Parts: sequence; structure tokens; C-alpha cells
Amino acid sequence: MGGHARAAVFLGDGTYEVREFPIPAPPAGGAVLKVEAVGMCGSDVMQFHGQSHVPGEASPVIPGHEIVGRLIDVTPEAAANWGVAEGDRVCVDEIVKCGRCASCLAGGTGLCANLQLYGYTMGPDHDGGLWGGYGEYLRLLPNTHVMKAPDGLTAAELTVFEPLANALNWVTSVRVGPGDVVVVQGPGHQGLLCAAAALACGASQVIVTGTGADSLRLKTATALGAHEVIDIEAEDVVTRVGELTGGRMASVVMDLTPVTASVRTALDLTGMAGARIALAGLKHFTPVDGLLTDLITLKNINVQGCAGSTPGSMEQAVRLLADRPEIARTMAGTHVSLDTIEHGIALLERRAAGEDAVHVSLVHAG
Ligand SMILES: [Zn+2]
Ligand SMILES: [Zn+2]
Repeated sequence: MGGHARAAVFLGDGTYEVREFPIPAPPAGGAVLKVEAVGMCGSDVMQFHGQSHVPGEASPVIPGHEIVGRLIDVTPEAAANWGVAEGDRVCVDEIVKCGRCASCLAGGTGLCANLQLYGYTMGPDHDGGLWGGYGEYLRLLPNTHVMKAPDGLTAAELTVFEPLANALNWVTSVRVGPGDVVVVQGPGHQGLLCAAAALACGASQVIVTGTGADSLRLKTATALGAHEVIDIEAEDVVTRVGELTGGRMASVVMDLTPVTASVRTALDLTGMAGARIALAGLKHFTPVDGLLTDLITLKNINVQGCAGSTPGSMEQAVRLLADRPEIARTMAGTHVSLDTIEHGIALLERRAAGEDAVHVSLVHAG
């Protein structure tokens, strides 16, 4: 095809450079995507600083795993297997399983022995180099799971499909449904989408908690339909949830904060008899001080670890955005370009002076 594609390469030491790559041909049985937008995420920031947290992670790397773009070069096999055509706008599942190892052949959600993740596992020197959404083009492997994007949303808005797929997976794993009182601790983009996912699953009352610095995010929670928001610095969160629930407390607490104190709070926020706690916010491997496991025992609490998505939750996320495009519009947030990535990182690290964003997308030049 000729021509060049630009891509941001994170060097793993808090710096990056924009490199040029030849526009690639599709891998055998795969396709080439012209990336339109990619959501920026806390794990990109970890990659920026070389803090690996994903098995097989490459560094340096072209990051970006919340990928939306148009298929421009599709092999006949990919067209048939994926049900797509050139020109289709798609959301790309970052998880690529081999389909041949024992885990894949057993089905289910086991860990593929040859797992590849766009934006993580294949570095800029791996076979053509363009394997992350921070590149203007992306090579798609034959086992890629792509979903046709719904009309009526911009590529940048659509990038929330990926954190929404995580959220839908997690609310499913803690069985959120009608009658549930759900407290989401931590109103980052992933927490806000957990609130949206809990509402989509029919939760009766959704309460989102944050701090004084989170006023934009708590406003966004309300715009997404959360029934109540609580600034935990302004009032006692346990007392307030007691008031809001007539003393019943939460049946589900989803912990999305990066701090350990919220784990203890989660135990205090749950009511008696079979409540569920979803632990989804990573704590940088910091132990939780003062954790009283007797509370877990006496209240019969189910504690569920929550990481990642499934192919089913990916499909569910794209369908939900088709039905409820206002979720994506409400979460649209701020855009950066390849030349202003550092501003995006600053926003994610919450050190952009006087500015906050509920979500940041890197939008590639048309
Ligand atoms: Zn992410
Ligand atoms: Zn496999």
C-alpha cells in the first residue's frame, strides 16, 4: 500500500517518541485497521513508567487497547470469519487467543498459553511493529474478535466500549440485578462505567462515592443516572449510605479506587446476609492494613476479584452503546493527539493544572 504511519512508542522510563512505520500489509488471514481513536487508560500510564502488570508485556511498546477504527485491508478469510468488509468501523477486542492450546480447546475463560494483547505484548520490533492503538494503523491477527460499531457515535465516543465491557463483566460476576443497592467507590472512567453497567442490569439504587477532587466525576455519575453521589471527605460515607438505604446498606460494593482504605470501607458498607464485594481497583501491590476478615465471615460476604472482559461482555458493551448512546456521549471527556499525549498522561495522573476529565481519548488525524 505504501506510505507511512506514525505511532507513539512508550520507552518505559516515563518518556515516549513518535516513530514512523511503513503502512503494513495484513497478517495471513487477518486485516489492517486504520485506527481512528483509542481510549487512554490507567494501565497506559503504568506502561509509560515501565511498570509491567500484564503477563508477557513488551517494553518499549506501542500502547493502546481501547481501539476503534476502520478496516482498510481485509483478507478474504478475515472477511468471512469476522463477517466484515473493508470500510467497516469496528471496535477491537484487545484479547487474541490462539485457539489451539489446551486452555483454548477446553473453552471457557482460561488463560491462553499463546495469549496476545494489542497494546501490550507485541513490541515495536515484533513483525511490522504496529500492534497498539497509539499507532495510526494496526495489524489484526486472524483470531481477532472485532465488533461492528454502532452508527451515531464518534470514534472517540465509541472507545468507552472497552472499559464498559470490563464493567459489564464485573457486574455480572457479582450478580447485579433488580433489588440490588450498589455502591461504586472511585469515580474514574472505569468506576463511572460500573455505575452505568449496574443501572443497565436493573440495580434499584446506585450510589457513587468520591472525594472533593472528584466533583466533575460525581456530576458525571449523576448524569449517567446514579441515584446518589457522596463526597467521602464532606460526610461520613457509612452513615450516609445507612440513611440512603433505610439501614439496609449495600448488597453490592464495587471498589475501583487505587487506595487500600476503600477495602475496609467496603466491608462497612455492606449489609448482612450474602452481600458481594467486587475488588477491581489495583492497589499497586500494597497490603491492606487493618482488614478484619471476621466481617467477611460474619456477614457471609462474597469477595470477587475482577479483571478484564470476556468476548460476551465485549459484545454486550457494543450492544449497550447502540441502545444507550448517551452513555458514550456523557463519558466522551477530552481528546488528545499523537503530539499531545503527555497532556493525556497528565490528565490520567491528575496533575493537569485546573483540569480534570472523565475519559481521555487519543484521536488520530484523519
Ligand atoms: Zn484499559
Ligand atoms: Zn490458546
